[in-house]
Amino acid sequence: MNVRNPITGQSDRPLAPIPPDRLAAVAAGLRERAPAWQNADRGAVLARFGAALADDDALLSALVADTGRVGESLLERRLVAGLVERWVRQAPALLAPPAERPASLPGVFVAGDAVPYELAGMITPWNLPLLLGLIDAVPALAAGCTVLVKPSEVTPRFIEPLMRLVPEELPLRVVEGDGATGAALVGLVDAVVFTGSVATGRRVALAAASAFVPAFLELGGKDPAIVLAGADLGRAASAVLWGGTANAGQSCQSIERVYVAREVHDEFLDRLVAEAAQVGLTCEGGPIGPIIKPGQEDVIAAHLADAVAKGASVHTGGRIERHGGGHWCRPTVLSGVDHGMLVMTEETFGPVLPVMAVSGPDEAVALANDSVYGLSAAVFAAGEEQARAVAARLQAGAVSINDAALTALVHEGEKNSFRLSGLGGSRMGPASIGRFLRRRSFLVNRSDAADPWWHSTKE
Ligand code: NAD
Repeated sequence: MNVRNPITGQSDRPLAPIPPDRLAAVAAGLRERAPAWQNADRGAVLARFGAALADDDALLSALVADTGRVGESLLERRLVAGLVERWVRQAPALLAPPAERPASLPGVFVAGDAVPYELAGMITPWNLPLLLGLIDAVPALAAGCTVLVKPSEVTPRFIEPLMRLVPEELPLRVVEGDGATGAALVGLVDAVVFTGSVATGRRVALAAASAFVPAFLELGGKDPAIVLAGADLGRAASAVLWGGTANAGQSCQSIERVYVAREVHDEFLDRLVAEAAQVGLTCEGGPIGPIIKPGQEDVIAAHLADAVAKGASVHTGGRIERHGGGHWCRPTVLSGVDHGMLVMTEETFGPVLPVMAVSGPDEAVALANDSVYGLSAAVFAAGEEQARAVAARLQAGAVSINDAALTALVHEGEKNSFRLSGLGGSRMGPASIGRFLRRRSFLVNRSDAADPWWHSTKE
């Protein structure tokens, strides 16, 4: 199998999946290093890794070759350097054993510690290869786990330059491979984080259940934005446009549908269309990169064709373009849409913003919740109080207020995915590190007296 270059369209790089026996040997080798890593100065080693990747040009070039885009690759590298810095700073306090405390039983005290898994595994997608390759690996390493990562076969070029930056003492291995490699990884690790599609997530969860290891699933989304009367429409249009088209819409937290109160629908649409028409493709000097995964252009084209056939109007973009061998899609704004269309219900994963008029907050909430997904959402309202009240009715794990897709940049807020968007503990916020630890309690009885519930064996 060859890897396709999203700019040239050429499948010019052979994929070299690690053979199963070598994968097993890598896993065993990592496991052997777990005790030393748990006793190492992990913060210092991680800090060196973060500093090394922060300005590495070979890593950046490989990411650009993988994804065809420069701006987002720079952002990924910056976000990952920040991620490492944050975990180095936060981990010691989070890992400190809790203070001993008296239990509810007289004379008994409770203390505890946390035991990291020896080997944590991550299976990751192609849309943000570096960030999603490391977003869970770094807290797992900080927790004291050794880590094995299997990125997507669509974007493997960044692996080699990344591995060159890994300090010798850091027990992190990132391996090249395909779905079969991912499936084999599940049987080798003590806990797995999977980021990708619902269909594969289900398979990973089943395999993890039969291997009796926890699986944390970070899956797809169909994020809604709600724009109510009284909202700052200029701000809402700019934020929704960014949230729906950054990364050419190839992000789980992309805005994929927009519900706008009827009285401000036309003005919002006009503003959105006017702005969207000015946002060009990177091959013309604009910010919108190519479609990365082979075949994704067919999904986007099918959703657009379905919407148009059912009566939607296309205001900008609206089709797949070919430039220099790659596939591209301009920011596409649709109106006249409804939930009978694929573009309102299935993940499009392209820079497509279908806008639907609604009667007010109740209908907006009902439609936003009319989805199999529940990843994140955005609300623009007359004021923060109204926006918060609407946000609290949404079946989603994170709601940006007065902005869109903030989870792309802000990783501090704890969140769980709702519905098919995922399963398991929070990837974000301090609780994230808890996914890689088992808590252990020490229950100490300091009383000399016989416990009243013991069997009575003496006169
Ligand atoms: P995918 O499910 O096709 O592949 C994801 C990974 O799973 C790849 O590394 C692949 O090689 C591996 N894999 C394939 N079959 C496997 C198997 N049987 N066992 C184990 N691993 C296997 O997903 P994709 O196309 O790479 O990613 C796009 C999807 O990811 C979208 O649905 C997107 O919304 C989602 N996503 C979610 C988040 C999130 O944080 N929730 C973030 C980014 C992307």
